[in-house]
Amino acid sequence: MNDLTLLPFEAFAQTLPKPSRDLTPRERRYYVWTVGCQMNISDSERLEAALQGVGYAPAERPEEASFIVLNSCSVRASAEERIMGKLGELQRVKREQPDTRVVLWGCMVGPNNLSIFKQKLPVVDHFVSPSAVDEVLALAPNPIYQLEDPALPVADWTHPPVSVHVPIQYGCNMSCAFCVIPLRRGRERSRPLAEIVDEVTRIVARGAKEITLLGQIVDSWGHDLPGRPGLADLLRAIHDVPGLVRLRFLTSHPAWMVDKLIQTVAELPKCMPEINLPVQSGDDGILKIMRRGYTVQRYRDLIGRIRAAMPHVAMTTDVIVGHPGEQRQHFQGTLDLASEIRFDKIHIAAYSWRPGTRAGEMEENPEFAVPEPEKQIRRIELERMQEQISTERNAAYLDQTVEVLVEGESKGKWRGRTPQNKLVFFSDAENWTGRLALVHITKTGAWSLQGQLAGERIPA
Ligand code: SF4
Repeated sequence: MNDLTLLPFEAFAQTLPKPSRDLTPRERRYYVWTVGCQMNISDSERLEAALQGVGYAPAERPEEASFIVLNSCSVRASAEERIMGKLGELQRVKREQPDTRVVLWGCMVGPNNLSIFKQKLPVVDHFVSPSAVDEVLALAPNPIYQLEDPALPVADWTHPPVSVHVPIQYGCNMSCAFCVIPLRRGRERSRPLAEIVDEVTRIVARGAKEITLLGQIVDSWGHDLPGRPGLADLLRAIHDVPGLVRLRFLTSHPAWMVDKLIQTVAELPKCMPEINLPVQSGDDGILKIMRRGYTVQRYRDLIGRIRAAMPHVAMTTDVIVGHPGEQRQHFQGTLDLASEIRFDKIHIAAYSWRPGTRAGEMEENPEFAVPEPEKQIRRIELERMQEQISTERNAAYLDQTVEVLVEGESKGKWRGRTPQNKLVFFSDAENWTGRLALVHITKTGAWSLQGQLAGERIPA
């Protein structure tokens, strides 16, 4: 369990009254269910840490909890369908235990759909917009100031995960045609530098080794703050936090990836050589329809500058296939770009209609919509090509010794990541969690590497 913004919640917990009666185990349990991106996962982790700070314990199943929170995602229709399915299940729970409090949280909750949801989803007691952890916390029915209780598992205050995601910015000011996030998460808000450094310091002091800074356009962080600091300044400020071993950030936008940031990542030893830079399409016409704000050539040049500064960098990207207006020759541009750049990994999505977006309007016009089977054909074609490229790129690690930050155990092996974020598995009798293992790679594949333990690096 995470241990994130503890001090504010500890202060909040101390304001709470002692309960007037003994609460039942169900009254003291929460159930949080999360769909979506790292930002949602991070928000849910922060909420869980806060709930545990006010006397709650996690429940395995919704019927064991009095407080149920579904953290939702709207990026794709399938994510919304999963949430709707879960809400359907909760109807039975609510019927049998009417005092259960249900909160629908996250990107599905936007100003435009709130009144419809209130009518259509009577199982939900409260709707809370994305990232408002404190608003959800305030809805917990039975908070108490009781940090230790032998009868229930309590927050693990001393051992956060090895790798923790920290949001540094909320919302997005772009208006990519396909994306619903600005409609749901609102305008960009950067968290102040000192607040982020303080939070990272506390998380690392409690044992985390790796921090990943999160934002919808993480490289635009700071432009709305006094003095307009940049992500490069924040990386420098965090880099010196004692005990920090690795530093990453997600997700960048090509329009905001400036040379100062590239040089800073190249220079700072704790900044890992891995950059996720979504291109979305390899065709200028489609990029224009998508309103991405760059051309293929500009993107190509940017990759060239990043690779020149960091020859061993891992480049990953996001691509949408079957965007409204994408014809076969446009998709061929994406295949050509993928084959030219040879990314380490591509997150590929078939375009999904999102209400209220510019692309959503286009999709309703059969002249622009790509038929669903054709979208899937393109997705599979790009996936197959990328699998081959990932296999070849990872094969370069064979017989090399890599440094692996071990995150934990998986199926009897230690699981960790290289600086380039490649997943590595190895066996050993000792506990390696949170340590830097040197692993000699003996087997490679498209998705992971395997090897033998060759030593340990003790961070300075
Ligand atoms: S940059 Fe574009 S894709 Fe990313 S969150 Fe903002 S609008 Fe959506």
